[in-house]
Amino acid sequence: DNKPLHYFLEEAAARYKEKKALYFQGKELTYAELLMQAKKFANYLQGLGVVKGDRVAIMLPNSPQSVISYYGSLMAGAIVVQTNPLYTERELEYQLNDSGAKVIVCLDILVPRVTNVKKDTSLEHMIVTGIKDYLPFPKNLIYPFIQKKQYNIVVKVEESSDTHSWTSLMDKAKAEYQAIEVDPVEDIALLQYTGGTTGFPKGVMLTHRNLVSNALACNAWIYKMKHGEETILGVLPFFHVYGMTAVMNISVLTGSRMVLLPKFDAGEVLKTIHKLKPTIFPGAPTIYIGILNHPDLNKYDLSSIEACISGSAPLPVEVQEKFEKVTGGKLVEGYGLTESSPVTHANLIYGNRVSGSIGLPWPDTDAKIVRAETFEEVEIGEVGELAVKGPQVMKGYWNKPEDTESVMKDGWLLTGDLGYMDKDGYFFIVDRKKDMIIAGGYNIYPREVEEVLYEHEAIQETVVAGVPDPYRGETVKAYVVLKEGSAVTEEELNKFCRERLAAYKVPRIYEFRKELPKTAVGKILRRQLIDEEKKKIK
Ligand code: ATP
Repeated sequence: DNKPLHYFLEEAAARYKEKKALYFQGKELTYAELLMQAKKFANYLQGLGVVKGDRVAIMLPNSPQSVISYYGSLMAGAIVVQTNPLYTERELEYQLNDSGAKVIVCLDILVPRVTNVKKDTSLEHMIVTGIKDYLPFPKNLIYPFIQKKQYNIVVKVEESSDTHSWTSLMDKAKAEYQAIEVDPVEDIALLQYTGGTTGFPKGVMLTHRNLVSNALACNAWIYKMKHGEETILGVLPFFHVYGMTAVMNISVLTGSRMVLLPKFDAGEVLKTIHKLKPTIFPGAPTIYIGILNHPDLNKYDLSSIEACISGSAPLPVEVQEKFEKVTGGKLVEGYGLTESSPVTHANLIYGNRVSGSIGLPWPDTDAKIVRAETFEEVEIGEVGELAVKGPQVMKGYWNKPEDTESVMKDGWLLTGDLGYMDKDGYFFIVDRKKDMIIAGGYNIYPREVEEVLYEHEAIQETVVAGVPDPYRGETVKAYVVLKEGSAVTEEELNKFCRERLAAYKVPRIYEFRKELPKTAVGKILRRQLIDEEKKKIK
């Protein structure tokens, strides 16, 4: 791991030249083409005056352009700032200002949003790509990335000294660039903003070595990958650290073909698996749940799937078992966070695994459970805060030294997650420190209650949260999405929980919904639901 991250692409292009690197909406690019276009992108950026350490924001859904601009920016010596295409103007302005990005690459339909905030940021250049470009985005898949009121806007992008179209960039640029010396240990490759499920996003500084080591470990640990022969399903967004490492960087490292989907849609995923036969499918629990509940599930052949890793939230055991039965492949749970590039733990795909556990620490990674106040290690089986140390742990938060100090102790990262280790060294996450509910003086872990609810046959999806309560401080509320055609009453659910949980843990309020708000990787936004409750009180 002593090379810069973009070395993965140079290596892959040298080794796998004409092998397919990516598939998108019926078009394919080879590794040689991918490298050539990334070089052109780097050349163009350098022509715009981008120098080592400048920030380049990428605001794109998964697409050839998102991969090309990511590697191309790194080649030019820039720091990539991944920007969620769903960001509102307020969020976008915050991120552009916080990172100080000089260039942004965005979809043409996002231009109005970028233009509105541009004057209040340090942005100098906008590179625009999208629907009309050489690899067209299908409208129905792109629209979720823009707000409804913008659907009918036709964006005519006039090129100017600060607005550049992707096609003319590719026409004008040369496939050569000024190689920049990179210190993989010190130099930042990426500012990855935390998901924001628990507060204002912070820019996590990840170095070349952080990202390279995590991809290498992922390859060594989880997958028995046949280099140059795998197809990886890219439905996790690359603007999030999980998809970026577990799909994009892993694919390029191993010379795999990645199949890109710009958003999650269960029907679209089923069709894609049937047609393109991916072997590896990194995902998140809500993604696997969505697929298992699709009415046409049985019409598709999913037998190409060999290995899946689920991260970002706890994987219900029933989902794991059912998904393995349906596909015949393996699905294991892993764990990570933005601050650690992201993976720190996982179960083995081919080997021992413990259901309900996040597995063992990753290669080169140390992990322990500590008392948050004293940082002392707790006894085996005792619940405390999970701390991790390893080559994937961030350099710190961008421009926020106090925040960095509050989570880093002697090279150890405090994850903010509560968990325990069993006698065999397997780790279990109990819940997030911040999500723990304190109701009438009792500590309640939402996850424990959710797991009970998931056992109920009518429930498709659920999230449990502590909502404000005048008497108990907080009270336990369950949000429930029922499976299609199922019905259950509040009383029945209450009885079901009472039989399985101590009385103080049983939800006092149930709310039935058609769907739950989620982040880009499908994590349920518990915080948003709690905020809604708080607003109701005000
Ligand atoms: P923010 O950090 O702003 O709150 P976020 O939660 O989306 O946003 P991420 O870094 O994407 O930030 O998520 C990391 C968190 O996801 C972990 O700290 C943990 O709480 C949770 N997580 C990840 N994998 C698992 C898992 N297998 N089981 C339980 N929780 C998990």
